[in-house]
Amino acid sequence: MTIELAEYAVREAGSRGRVQAEPSSFPRGEFQRDRDRIVHSTAFRRLEYKTQVFVNHEGDLFRTRLTHSIEVAQISRGIARALRLNEDLAEAIALAHDLGHTPFGHAGQDALNDCMKAYGGFEHNLQSLRTVDVLEEHYAEFDGLNLMWETREGILKHCSPSHAATLGDLGQRFLERTQPSLEAQLANLADEIAYNNHDIDDGLRSGLLSLEQLDSVEIFHAQRRIVEAAYPGLGGRRLIHETIRRMINQMVLDLVRQTEANIQSQGIRSLDDVRSGGRLVAFSRPLQPQLQALKKFLREHLYWHYQVLRMADKAKRIVRALFDAFMENPRLLPPQYFARCNDDKPRAIADYIAGMTDRYAVREHRRIFAVDEIH
Ligand code: MG
Repeated sequence: MTIELAEYAVREAGSRGRVQAEPSSFPRGEFQRDRDRIVHSTAFRRLEYKTQVFVNHEGDLFRTRLTHSIEVAQISRGIARALRLNEDLAEAIALAHDLGHTPFGHAGQDALNDCMKAYGGFEHNLQSLRTVDVLEEHYAEFDGLNLMWETREGILKHCSPSHAATLGDLGQRFLERTQPSLEAQLANLADEIAYNNHDIDDGLRSGLLSLEQLDSVEIFHAQRRIVEAAYPGLGGRRLIHETIRRMINQMVLDLVRQTEANIQSQGIRSLDDVRSGGRLVAFSRPLQPQLQALKKFLREHLYWHYQVLRMADKAKRIVRALFDAFMENPRLLPPQYFARCNDDKPRAIADYIAGMTDRYAVREHRRIFAVDEIH
């Protein structure tokens, strides 16, 4: 099905292109090609063994960064199609948005940022860009994946002004406070839709959350009542899934309608209008407080659950211990990372640690610290 792109969508023809010019790969479009490069990257495969909320070895059925990224891509594509935006671009951004995440989710990122405080810090978002721009080793002629400018723009969701200043025209919008493309804006909120919903599902599955607790969350409770009215007596996994799928649908529909209204009311006619306008992709005013309440609930009852915090604390200690050990003796690093220490030792170590999967980090910690472990 071919849908004509809206006048404010990103088009290949108007793209700022790739840093290294490459021959076209017709019949594939350039944003399809970006998506394919991302899917074939090493960093993408690592997402399978990186924490979303639950550490990988805690259970087989919880979301990982990989399944999370696939859900974000699916939601992004749905929204992009409804708004007649560039689906391939939205998909590429979504699949790449978490490539720079450390092992152990936010706990790992906080710990690494702490370790790197005196050396320029560590931001997972910036690391996602670094992964596709520099760290992937796939091609003969360039480092990284040499992605299209608009894909890279979308991957760089947020960025501190000091980092933005080092990123040339890609960092400019953080200094000028202009907006990225609609495809980038929507990938950002598709991320929120995905995790707000799948964290409920994983929370219930793990037993850390209960259905009774969730009844205090308006947006969940309202959809649950609709399901129970349609299917009296339905319980267990089916009740949960029927409720959550309706929540996802409600959020997506709300986002599409509100965004269309914003595009209309701000008179957006081109990509330039999008960039110089305000935030266009947004939830409606009535839905926003409900989403805030859901986030607050997840924070207090899931992310701050003592069992989640215990794992997060362990994770921080592992990251910190690895970083300190390598800083003290960089010869413990694999040779390709040690070779980079002359240039910038802390950054080489941060890149090594950020690339680790959860289980690799646990194993590496054992290899470095357990005396009965060989190399
Ligand atoms: Mg994400």
